Amino acid sequence: MAYFINDECISCGACEAECPVSAISAGDGKYVIDDSLCIDCGACNGVCPVGAPQPK
Ligand code: SF4
Ligand code: SF4
Repeated sequence: MAYFINDECISCGACEAECPVSAISAGDGKYVIDDSLCIDCGACNGVCPVGAPQPK
């Protein structure tokens, strides 16, 4: 399992610093999560203003 960032992302960057395993980075038009690193902690969902990070 891993989280992914859906198309609601407004690229605010808030989630990037909250990820304990640095799985989040800026992508093309939205932020992206590297599923090989994500440990499913949900911290990104907790800080996102639009609820874009979701469990797969
Ligand atoms: Fe990082 Fe946790 Fe979000 Fe996975 S669920 S991308 S580990 S903050
Ligand atoms: Fe996108 Fe939400 Fe992360 Fe901001 S906190 S970059 S809106 S996923």
